[in-house]
Amino acid sequence: MATVVVTGGAGFIGSHLCEALLALGNRVVCVDNLFTGNIANIRQLLPDSRFRFVEHDIITPFFLDDEDISQIYNLACPASPVHYQYNAIRTIKANTIGVINALGLAKRHQARILQSSTSEVYGDPLVHPQTESYKGNVSTIGPRACYDEGKRVAETLFFDYHRTHGIEIRVARIFNTYGPRMAINDGRVVSNFITQALRGEDITIYGDGSQTRSFCFVSDLVGGLIRLMNTESFTGPVNLGNPVELHVGELAKEVIALTESSSRIVTRPLPADDPKQRKPDITLAKENLGWEPTVDRTTGLTATVAYFREILGRNAGK
Ligand code: UDP
Repeated sequence: MATVVVTGGAGFIGSHLCEALLALGNRVVCVDNLFTGNIANIRQLLPDSRFRFVEHDIITPFFLDDEDISQIYNLACPASPVHYQYNAIRTIKANTIGVINALGLAKRHQARILQSSTSEVYGDPLVHPQTESYKGNVSTIGPRACYDEGKRVAETLFFDYHRTHGIEIRVARIFNTYGPRMAINDGRVVSNFITQALRGEDITIYGDGSQTRSFCFVSDLVGGLIRLMNTESFTGPVNLGNPVELHVGELAKEVIALTESSSRIVTRPLPADDPKQRKPDITLAKENLGWEPTVDRTTGLTATVAYFREILGRNAGK
């Protein structure tokens, strides 16, 4: 049985991906340095003999010569603004040195490799909704640049390895994703609002809440990644996200209603370079992958609220 490698496999999206790949009958090696990933996300997978966890930081080369690797999903990189800005230089290393190491692994094993790129390559977009042909509006020197520019050069590396070495590549531009196993402290809007609502704390809207995002439930996203990896003759880059757009202020109200919380909404300063609007054009994904999201926001948020209720209840019991 050929092996599928997931770097960042103990993270929020990575752990769902490992689970889905095992369910499809694959052998899976999960590589994670546990900086933002968490063993709790993959604990249920550890007893499976087809699953192997390797604690490793992709900034250091890795070979896995004892495995017959056919596919690599490169998800290893802190992805929330709070986490990727915590150690900006490390974030850049993950997206340059780490990506070169992942591509080197693909070259050594003649494996197909998929890069988890991001809507952040569009920066604060001047084209709306964002199509893959839009080249972006990104600050090279702002606080988000370590991630945005890092992910942009990672795409460049993927295409240069493809052109130079004939590596089979796939590039997915992932838009805001949410669901169970988001890190409780990652500072993202969905996890913040839900945990604040469940704790009865103030709900913190940054700015006036008029900025927009489009939120994709994690199972939809994982389905898109697997489909992209297994589609022939289509490298991408391709947007994967849910095109249903809403204001951050509306999300706060929805979370309050769903949790029946007594929390108040308060405003805080808008962080520097915070994109004003974001919505994927997913025409390319529909046409080439036959993919589009199916989970509506109420269903997705309800599952996410249930997850955080359990986590907060467990923490309170300690
Ligand atoms: N945001 C907010 N309150 C929070 C956390 C985030 O209003 O407690 C806003 C943030 O300023 C941004 C949007 O929600 O406009 C999405 O932020 P997130 O960190 O989830 O991801 P981003 O899409 O900015 O990478």
